[in-house]
Amino acid sequence: MTDAPAFGFDTLAIHAGARPDPATGARQTPIYQTTAYVFRDADHAAALFNLQEVGYIYSRLTNPTVAVLQERIATLEGGVGAVCCSSGHAAQIMALFPLMAPGRNVVVSTRLYGGSITQFSQTIKRFGWSAKFVDFEDMAAVAAAIDDDTRAVFCESVANPGGYVTDLPAAAKVASDAGLPLIVDNTSATPYLCNPIAHGATLVVHSMTKYLTGNGTVTGGVVVDSGTFDWSASDKFPSLSQPEPAYHGLKFHETFGPLAFTFHGIAIGLRDLGMTLNPQAAHYTLMGIETLSLRMERHCQNAQTIAEWLEKDDRIEKVTYAGLASSPYHARAKALFPKGTGGLFTVALKGGYDACVKLVGNLELFSHVANLGDTRSLIIHPASTTHRQLTEAQQVAAGAGPNVVRISIGIENAADLIRDLDQALPR
Ligand SMILES: *Cc1c(COP(=O)(O)O)cnc(C)c1O
Repeated sequence: MTDAPAFGFDTLAIHAGARPDPATGARQTPIYQTTAYVFRDADHAAALFNLQEVGYIYSRLTNPTVAVLQERIATLEGGVGAVCCSSGHAAQIMALFPLMAPGRNVVVSTRLYGGSITQFSQTIKRFGWSAKFVDFEDMAAVAAAIDDDTRAVFCESVANPGGYVTDLPAAAKVASDAGLPLIVDNTSATPYLCNPIAHGATLVVHSMTKYLTGNGTVTGGVVVDSGTFDWSASDKFPSLSQPEPAYHGLKFHETFGPLAFTFHGIAIGLRDLGMTLNPQAAHYTLMGIETLSLRMERHCQNAQTIAEWLEKDDRIEKVTYAGLASSPYHARAKALFPKGTGGLFTVALKGGYDACVKLVGNLELFSHVANLGDTRSLIIHPASTTHRQLTEAQQVAAGAGPNVVRISIGIENAADLIRDLDQALPR
């Protein structure tokens, strides 16, 4: 098999991880709607609980439908394993959980999804963790923010919502020089447009709620492990390199090698935090991923057309799409995302906060929702919604100031979307 040519992305998006159901021959992956799995005998049960044999015990840990999705996404991202979770935010906690401890910190980009800024600046403090926010345009500042208690570096590939493209190879170098894993949220780009692991990321997280499922039906997340990080190179990651008291002293890295992080995520993360993806949700996401390439191609085409149209309109102050030649990140986007930068951008209106509220109210085809990455076009005014909890300075740093709307371009006809925007933009 090792001599076989590697399959292309479109083929893997449909086939990776799946095979006809061994019991029934079902061609589509069945929804294994079951909580538990019968053990063959006591020895089999003991081997499963000892992690000496891979199998199914209880669906908080593993489920065959979810397992297909995990393998598919790991394959598409070029990782060795993946753990699905109940949401994108759950995935972010699951990614940090094996690395962190009270007193430890993570160095994160200021240009993040609004919910991630709140999660990192507020909620993780309750675990005794903290986040240091740095502008990733200044890699020297990122390096300087790392201290003895830092356990990870975190950024988004294409940041939601500001059209910011992170210099992933530079971020990976800073992390690796400090002996730390780089975690990349690849939600807005999807593995079709970018594989952060190929640019040096250790872990990739996704909100599967967005483009991966692609039609606004599911809340889900995933952590993908590259399998390349040496958890035993320092004493910084004892949960992976030392005997883990939460699993009767098992040494995950020594026992599972490149799969240490994935096994830890299931055996301890899902077991004790319980942020599990359900099989029904995994089914919808598997359906979505089958058409990921086709959808992302259209999302990119439509976003390019509409961003160019908006940029020329005299009611518009600025469009932040990295596909535009006017974007300061255009050249970086071309190098890192040759197939495009997705369907998401922000638009600053000359009419300010009030014009944004009117635009959102006047649109007929676009839906006013707190979501993105849907087949249908969506719009939101972050300053009055998702980024409301942030200070104005944080809003502006995140690319979501008061006169900015975030648009998620769907896969409808571009001409229809342009007509709707034209009638809705206040004159
Ligand atoms: C939506 C989103 C999240 C959070 O995901 P949920 O599935 O809503 O929990 C994290 N990061 C990015 C970039 C997102 O767009």
